[in-house]
Amino acid sequence: MKLLIANGHLIDPSENQNSGKNLLLEDGKIAAWLNQNENAPEDAEVFDATGLIVAPGFIDLHVHLREPGQEHKETIASGCAAAVAGGWTSVCPMPNTNPVNDNAAITRYMIEQAEHANLANVFPVGAITKSSDGAELAEMGEMKAAGAVAVSDDGRPVPNAGMMRRAMEYAKDFDLPVVDHCEDKSLSSGGVMHEGKISLLLGLKGMPALAEEIDAVRDIILAKETGARVHIAHISTKGAIEIVRRAKNENINVTCEVTPHHFTLNDNAVEGYDTNTKMSPPLRSEEHLEAILEAIKDSTIDAIATDHAPHHSDEKALEYDRAPFGIIGLETAVGLAFKQLVHQGIIDLVRLIELCSVNPAKIFKLKDRGTLRIGSVADITILDPDLNWVYKISESKSKSKNSPFDGWEFQGAAVATIVGGKILFRKEIKEN
Ligand SMILES: [Zn+2]
Ligand SMILES: [Zn+2]
Repeated sequence: MKLLIANGHLIDPSENQNSGKNLLLEDGKIAAWLNQNENAPEDAEVFDATGLIVAPGFIDLHVHLREPGQEHKETIASGCAAAVAGGWTSVCPMPNTNPVNDNAAITRYMIEQAEHANLANVFPVGAITKSSDGAELAEMGEMKAAGAVAVSDDGRPVPNAGMMRRAMEYAKDFDLPVVDHCEDKSLSSGGVMHEGKISLLLGLKGMPALAEEIDAVRDIILAKETGARVHIAHISTKGAIEIVRRAKNENINVTCEVTPHHFTLNDNAVEGYDTNTKMSPPLRSEEHLEAILEAIKDSTIDAIATDHAPHHSDEKALEYDRAPFGIIGLETAVGLAFKQLVHQGIIDLVRLIELCSVNPAKIFKLKDRGTLRIGSVADITILDPDLNWVYKISESKSKSKNSPFDGWEFQGAAVATIVGGKILFRKEIKEN
């Protein structure tokens, strides 16, 4: 099967490419780059990308797909449908399923479900400890052999430095990055939003920034000591960013990601007690948001990841204190990145593509992904930076509807998602 992506503007930071080219895909691989006046094979199907940006497929390092165990919130199939609708060709589900993905059988099951769905690629993240209960290390080698690309106890962060040190030493043996949700629960337990002026005003218990920062310091000291690769999940505070910036200057092996909600909203959003503003880490105050934007710009932050966290509407309908943490994010991430970052002049398209594709592939060492190099897998995200559209939660592909962005207007979207050489999503363009 041949597909020609014609007349597009190709941006691939991994190959220093930023110009008009045609791209020929064959048997699921990138077969050739052609000049736009060059003849292509006549039997190739043609995708006309006039006026569009052709980029290496976007990779989301951090999602929750809820299968196995909570299929009423999301399944691997519904999550992957939301992924391709948002421009993501690959997603990395966290292990806090039920049962926890702490062994090869569950890792394999997740990959098989994704193959059945035949949408986005799924690269599972295995647990650090058995049942993610912090007591005993999981069999990382077996999970890696089954397809796991990293380890994490996201959702139930590793509680002490001793266990984290052993986890890093073990993960290093298998060349797996350790992804940490940095939160010292002794400081944040019982909190439901960022600790600050607004939490006082609203009478809600706060989660202090230092709960994140203390764990980030711990992880970075341990990364230096063990030589393990450490990836800080959903970084959200000025202090944690400063710690990562310093560690990078010292060449410590650390990377970090940010979510679209943390670069878009601050804790003022909680004022209406909308439970779709409740997530962990929480929406921070404006000074933290400004530090995040600066870190996106200066490359302290390596990747954009959604932390897509589906919850049933009945659960989110509880009062603020009792509702679960988390929001969905796969279908709004690209729109938010255009709105908050690209169109604000904070970053350009090259950097956006680095944050969503090139860097994620490097962080989890996904071979032949995050690049349009000839011979690599034909995972491609096609962007229209000018398309005006409105996010309607009722049209979301996710099984859950917990998003604070319903009704938001965007300029810029992923308009087609190609996985393994096949067009699996095309955005409906509505004339109004
Ligand atoms: Zn987390
Ligand atoms: Zn998470």
